[in-house]
Amino acid sequence: MDGLPKFQDKQRVTANDKGTSSIVEKTINNLVENGINVIVRMTITQEMIKEFKETIDYLSNLGIKIIHFEPMTMGGRAKENEGSLSRPNPEEYANKLVEVIDYAKEKGVSIISSTVMNALSPSYMFCDGVGKNKLAVTYEGVFSSCLGVQNKEHPLADKFIVKDRDIKKWMEAKFGSYVDDYSKNNKCKNCFAKYICAGGCPSRNFYATEDFEKIDDMQCIPTKIILKKYITNLYKQSAS
Ligand code: SF4
Repeated sequence: MDGLPKFQDKQRVTANDKGTSSIVEKTINNLVENGINVIVRMTITQEMIKEFKETIDYLSNLGIKIIHFEPMTMGGRAKENEGSLSRPNPEEYANKLVEVIDYAKEKGVSIISSTVMNALSPSYMFCDGVGKNKLAVTYEGVFSSCLGVQNKEHPLADKFIVKDRDIKKWMEAKFGSYVDDYSKNNKCKNCFAKYICAGGCPSRNFYATEDFEKIDDMQCIPTKIILKKYITNLYKQSAS
């Protein structure tokens, strides 16, 4: 879900174009009442970034303890609604997120974001989907190592989807380390965050730069800003 009802009701609607916040609230209430730890994953648009604090208050009051922030990618339904939804400015998004991390902690809420998910286990591969360590069954019944690549028409289907049950071919379509490919990503050469960033999601790179190995600014800029906050907080904790 996308947090505050005014965003949820605009960005996530029923087939009849009705807002879904009350339905989702009810589901969250049911889950929380039954002792289930709910993680809310939000797709962040530009208009949402000014209200992160209010969003944390709202979700915390619903009993949410973990919130996953992910900026919108201009693919799929976002692309279909390009006129009414906009991707956040990467720098503004990251700075606004950093501003509320400590506030969320005081409220007992943890914030997660894929840009720094490799912080405790540096890697040259961004995720299990890229490393071919994961296999999901999509709504069309195909096997894919990426939940963002769900059908055979996707431009990166050859990389992620098992075609004709040929697992060997799927494994062979493994990704190289594009974070080390300086012909495409010269800015990464001396980057302190290189193996935390690990080049980001190839699908998102593709939608942003038209080349899955050319790293999206939405990966680059927030990684450096949020990682700096993460390291500073670790230092403060270890020094206290
Ligand atoms: S954070 Fe930016 S500069 Fe650093 S490795 Fe990632 S894309 Fe390259």
